[in-house]
Amino acid sequence: MLWLNETQAREIVQHARRDAPREACGLIAGKANIAQRIIPLPNAASDPEKRYLIDPSAYIKTLTALEKEGLSLVGFYHSHPKGDPIPSPTDIREAAYPDAVYVIAGLRGEKPALSAWRIRYGQVESVEICTGIPTETDEDITLSRAQKFAIILSAVLALLFLLLLSLSLLPPAPVIPVR
Ligand SMILES: [Zn+2]
Repeated sequence: MLWLNETQAREIVQHARRDAPREACGLIAGKANIAQRIIPLPNAASDPEKRYLIDPSAYIKTLTALEKEGLSLVGFYHSHPKGDPIPSPTDIREAAYPDAVYVIAGLRGEKPALSAWRIRYGQVESVEICTGIPTETDEDITLSRAQKFAIILSAVLALLFLLLLSLSLLPPAPVIPVR
């Protein structure tokens, strides 16, 4: 499941329309499966009307910036200016990120359509797009490994502090008189 709110969906469609007849492409950044930001990037393909290639240097720059902000890569999006939102054989062949979600905007027809996919080693699986606000349980899932580690670490440190505090508050050892 991918959480993509209506504003974000609109941003993807607007980018797709702006770049037509060329394919538009970009990144979806956020946490776990929750989109927080849509980042349009240049299509560097030599035949951008038929395929997309996210400009590699823009891609790396964006990833570095996202990391600094504590956001991660949720997935990629691109458009099919004259087609349906279904992965093409090229899309499937060139999908290099098994954990990413691939969103496709299809501009054929009166209403643009968005779809999401997971593409793993040639296997294509549809991903449900949920608009709206993620529930609390979903927020919990978004805790990254680093965050979980930080929470456990702070709990351990707090315990250690309490232990040291209680030791320091103990009365001094009784002096045993020696005859
Ligand atoms: Zn495509």
